[in-house]
Amino acid sequence: MPIRALSETVINQIAAGEVIERPASVVKELVENALDAGAKRVEVATAGGGLTLIRVIDDGGGIPADELPLAVARHCTSKLSDDIHDICTLGFRGEALPSIGSVARLTLRSRPEGGDAGAEITVDGGRVGQVKPVAINRGTTVEVRDLFFATPARLKFMKGERAEAAAITDVVKRIALAFPSVRFTLSGTDRSLIELPAVSADGDGLLRRLGQVMGKEFPENALPIEADRDGIGLMGYVSIPSFTRGNALNQFAYVNGRPVRDKLVAGAIRGAYMDVLPRDRHAVTALFISLDPALVDVNVHPAKADVRFRDPGLVRGLIVGAIRQALEAAGVRAATTGAAAMLQAFRVQESRPFGNGDGRSHFGGQSFDPEGRGGGWSMENSPSRPLEEAFSAAVAHSGFSETEQSTFDVGPAVSADARAGTGEAPAELTRRPLGAARAQVHENYIVAQTEDSLIIVDQHAAHERLVYEALKQAIHSRPLPSQMLLMPEIVDLPEEDAERLCMHAEFLARMGLGLERFGPGAVCVRETPSMLGKVDTASLIRNLADEIAENDTANSLKERIDRIAATMACHGSVRSGRRLKPEEMNALLRQMEATPGSGTCNHGRPTYIELKLADIERLFGRR
Ligand code: ADP
Ligand code: MG
Repeated sequence: MPIRALSETVINQIAAGEVIERPASVVKELVENALDAGAKRVEVATAGGGLTLIRVIDDGGGIPADELPLAVARHCTSKLSDDIHDICTLGFRGEALPSIGSVARLTLRSRPEGGDAGAEITVDGGRVGQVKPVAINRGTTVEVRDLFFATPARLKFMKGERAEAAAITDVVKRIALAFPSVRFTLSGTDRSLIELPAVSADGDGLLRRLGQVMGKEFPENALPIEADRDGIGLMGYVSIPSFTRGNALNQFAYVNGRPVRDKLVAGAIRGAYMDVLPRDRHAVTALFISLDPALVDVNVHPAKADVRFRDPGLVRGLIVGAIRQALEAAGVRAATTGAAAMLQAFRVQESRPFGNGDGRSHFGGQSFDPEGRGGGWSMENSPSRPLEEAFSAAVAHSGFSETEQSTFDVGPAVSADARAGTGEAPAELTRRPLGAARAQVHENYIVAQTEDSLIIVDQHAAHERLVYEALKQAIHSRPLPSQMLLMPEIVDLPEEDAERLCMHAEFLARMGLGLERFGPGAVCVRETPSMLGKVDTASLIRNLADEIAENDTANSLKERIDRIAATMACHGSVRSGRRLKPEEMNALLRQMEATPGSGTCNHGRPTYIELKLADIERLFGRR
């Protein structure tokens, strides 16, 4: 085939391939146009997840009738003079309308400020129609019908109405955070109404808009941040360390009002919270960076979702510094967790009082390194691997639920330490992989003895693991018992989260969690899994919603079940701090032996460690 120029329509469809990935991309472009036109009210309506219809109405500056053909023509824009380095608007490529028009049926109606009549133009799969007069209020209305009808291949990649509608909601909320003084509404046949009334444009207004978008708990748990360095300004709100989510989806970042998903920003946030948050928790943040447009390149991504800073180090430093300062000012001190501290704790101290007079102890330099032993604690690596690999369904009824446990409680208990078996440990128990329980210390650690080692079990972590395995199993065998809440609990959460949870109601019910829809943006919880004991229902529900939001589309059913089970298991209230009788301790050890994978908790931390007698002897210099 000889080389020839492509038709205008094909060129636009190629551009659309990059710019218009899914209905939410259309909404993003149209809302950005409305904001660039100075709108104070933006109304978005959708049907069929945006595939059937997207309509965006604004009260902005409008387009004169004679410019309508230009608005839908490629590379035509009112926003860029000749300097690509001075971009103060959200749009600048002049690509959105022609791209959308090439893959859908587009109608653009507008009446400019001061104009006495309105006009419209249509683009139908790339065919541009005549400009016609039309009755319309001041502002612009854009309607997009039958998205991707002209490029059916793209249609196959859509994720279904609900998922597309949810993505549209996300996009609108994300943009709305940066424009608190603009009123947004989102309505349509595929959703319940979302309304974000206009608030003031200052920090106060921003905080209220954050509440509208993220729920009112965020403003209650957020710290303001503000910093300025070398012409780069940063302001916003970040959550206190006790207010976290299971994923980073609630980290919003803006550069000159443009929503961006930037690795640099995400990394800076992680760095700032490193000392105060566990690795699997994420802060909730809204950061607004403002700088001279010449110091940032926004033209690196067709959908304008990425930016490149002239001086990334400066921006990173600014974010980390400002967040740390806010946390410190709020009295949050870095937690001293982590493996290093663990190792230090195991190290034998150079202890003068017990030294042998010459200032050196016999064992001064030696240290016990649990990791150096090749993971002696792991069930898999341990020579004392459990003999039976079969999962015992008995776990579900094993006496670890709060109600059943309370029957063991015998009033203000004797110190568990004092309860340590006084006699000899039964020989048949010491031959078991996890041995015979001898004592419980600090109300959470079970000390057991085997023939040649000392075992320390983290009761909380072990219990969590057993619950996790039982929850996973509930999908394949019979449903787990649940307990009715005295009062059903209504949990408010973003509409998309409520939607996603309810889509999983059936298998959550098998795990013992009974929930149902309760109007828009809320679910009603009637039952919780008995195994979890008394749970904080609201935080369980929110974490589950996060978990599903993050993993639903990407993972296989099995992975999804596993992750949901893990999230639930974390919420069990039967944690540390409960005193156990010797029979109960031994029962826990036997269950651990019978449950595959019980050597580590759901977060990959060990549930028990094993100190070989030989190592202990070495620590004491006996070998
Ligand atoms: P860009 O936003 O990059 O300029 P678009 O294709 O999105 O490109 O829009 C082309 C032009 O149409 C814009 O530059 C603007 O002049 C005009 N326009 C589009 N939408 C609106 C709107 N809602 N209100 C006013 N003018 C608009
Ligand atoms: Mg635009």
